[in-house]
Amino acid sequence: MSSTQPSVDTIVVGGGIAGASIAYELAADRSVLLVEAEPELARHSTARSAATYVPGHGPAPVRALIRASGPRFARLEAELEAPPLLAPRPVLHVAVDADGEALLAAELAAQDGEPGAPVPIDPDEAQRRCPALRPGVVRGAAVVEGAADVDAAALHQAYVRGLRRRGGRVRTGAPVTEVRRNGSGWEARLGPDGEAVAAAEVVDAAGAWADAVAERAGVPRIGLTPMRRTIALVAVPDPARLAGPDGGRLPMVVDAREGFYFKQEGDGLLVSPADETPVHPHDARPDELDVATALERVEAVTGLGLRSVRTAWAGLRSFVADRLPVVGAWPEHPGFFFCAGQGGSGIETAPALAAFAAAVVTGAPTPDDVPFGRDAFAPTRL
Ligand SMILES: Cc1cc2nc3c(=O)[nH]c(=O)nc-3n(C[C@H](O)[C@H](O)[C@H](O)COP(=O)(O)OP(=O)(O)OC[C@H]3O[C@@H](n4cnc5c(N)ncnc54)[C@H](O)[C@@H]3O)c2cc1C
Repeated sequence: MSSTQPSVDTIVVGGGIAGASIAYELAADRSVLLVEAEPELARHSTARSAATYVPGHGPAPVRALIRASGPRFARLEAELEAPPLLAPRPVLHVAVDADGEALLAAELAAQDGEPGAPVPIDPDEAQRRCPALRPGVVRGAAVVEGAADVDAAALHQAYVRGLRRRGGRVRTGAPVTEVRRNGSGWEARLGPDGEAVAAAEVVDAAGAWADAVAERAGVPRIGLTPMRRTIALVAVPDPARLAGPDGGRLPMVVDAREGFYFKQEGDGLLVSPADETPVHPHDARPDELDVATALERVEAVTGLGLRSVRTAWAGLRSFVADRLPVVGAWPEHPGFFFCAGQGGSGIETAPALAAFAAAVVTGAPTPDDVPFGRDAFAPTRL
């Protein structure tokens, strides 16, 4: 390393919600460089989510991270002078066939007694809460009152603002092309000029590309599979049908079999077929068939006359085999930390996961409100 080579304590690779949030946490007592390949931050999964915070979503450890994140959203609003980050909107889980009923019953049993768990309600009550559902279509239902829409862009921007205030730096249009050992630390080369930056630690928060970045560092992969998911915004011919029971907006509705979900967006509807198509990491585009499937499935349970698609997009939800996040380093590659595999929960878990991951990187005690030991999400489990 030359004496003029720039150096920081930590390079964070990836400018989505994972990278921005952990970079902010680390910048409390480290010099941090956040590096993003694209010309702007948060172009990929982070900009394409359904932006929901849903207690009771996912496997038990993910549910615990969602729970721990709840009060942290409010603290972040104050700490980072952010606008309101959560806008309450209950979620209705509905079963519309026998398989859905069985799955809903199993999920309710698995979460029995857990704070924030879905609460069973009868089908008539579900229809009352969401009059847009066709009468008689719901066979079983449960509600999550504590769910909310997340202002994901405001959350991301607040983290980046906070990072800069703490002296952290951000580089966009600078893909990490190579990472190699440099004494006890690391050296990363940033495109397009090949500038080398030395760091004690590298955090790989490159979303769907986390394994590609690991490979460039000679670090074993964690076995991520990016899964494409599609969302469409569709027109509702009679917007009066979107009125909630008290004139308010409708709850979000999620199929217990994960065949679809929908939520009201202004005078239209956001719909998804809840697709999971394994793909390689790339700039995902919606497939027409997936958009058509979303319309068809939501139309079948609502009869809203959904035909006209205003816009559609797709993004990647990346999972490892056990569908839990990966936070930590391989023992043979100390100082190269993954913060990846957030799947479909990277926004709703970000506040707690970032604080936890920062503790794993720095060796500080893990936060009291995040109920996991530092090895809970280590790559060694894979
Ligand atoms: C349709 C859909 C709906 C979703 N709904 C929800 C939801 O309701 N609630 C929720 O919590 N989550 C949801 N998610 C999941 C959530 O969006 C993701 O978990 C989260 O955005 C992942 O963030 P990330 O920062 O890891 O990835 P990304 O946002 O993809 O960021 C990774 C970044 O790394 C950069 N990068 C890659 N390679 C390099 C390199 N070599 N050098 C530098 N930078 C690099 C990329 O350009 C990218 O900007 C949804 C996802 C999708 C697709």
